[in-house]
Amino acid sequence: MHRPRRRGSRRGRPLFVVTLRGALIWGIFGVALLLSILISRGIITPAGARGPLQGQIVYIDPGHGGIDPGACGKKYLEKDIALNVALYLGVRLQKSGAKVVYTRTGDYDLETAEVDDLTARLRLMKSSKATIVISIHCNAFTSPYERGAQTFYNASGHPGSKKLAALIQEELVKETGTDREISARLDHFILNHATVPAVTVELGFLSNPSEEDLLGSPSYQQKLAECIYRGVLKYVNRGV
Ligand SMILES: [Zn+2]
Repeated sequence: MHRPRRRGSRRGRPLFVVTLRGALIWGIFGVALLLSILISRGIITPAGARGPLQGQIVYIDPGHGGIDPGACGKKYLEKDIALNVALYLGVRLQKSGAKVVYTRTGDYDLETAEVDDLTARLRLMKSSKATIVISIHCNAFTSPYERGAQTFYNASGHPGSKKLAALIQEELVKETGTDREISARLDHFILNHATVPAVTVELGFLSNPSEEDLLGSPSYQQKLAECIYRGVLKYVNRGV
């Protein structure tokens, strides 16, 4: 049955519907925009989303810890700087979808009554099913003039190690001004036993007073972590 429309009855209702729809659209648009900004800045990782490092398991080994301080500067200890950079790096990697396995997240070593520290680190590396291995240390030398971050790899290890080292070093050169090049000279227990791409990053020299100050600063530690992160990201994106 056709009923003649009443004049005036259309005016009020459509206006309300249009306003409600507009508010909904703008609301959804606003939330989507906010989410995209947060995701792009790495502040949140969307559940179930494939981050650029999804599927990667990164084993991060901050050297030393507990009774073993590593190299000692006048103000800072290697074990503390390595740990801070490792934690900054781990958070960065996790935000990009990687799973991170740390050998330590505090000031302790891994020695137990049954197993020594190095063996425990190696066992953890094997059981972690890591796809990438990163060991973090600081350097020291008799001369106070030696300086600069440097990335090491094992030439007889996984063929991807050299490429990963080169990509990390590229970032370190760009961001910290180090003039050092990658090297295969370091004889390191983690690198020697890794069967996946593996590097050791020597963050700098604690025996150099000005570099020691840099290494002790949280902003420089974050910068170093960011360099390692970008190197890993480029390595995974490019493949070998
Ligand atoms: Zn060390």
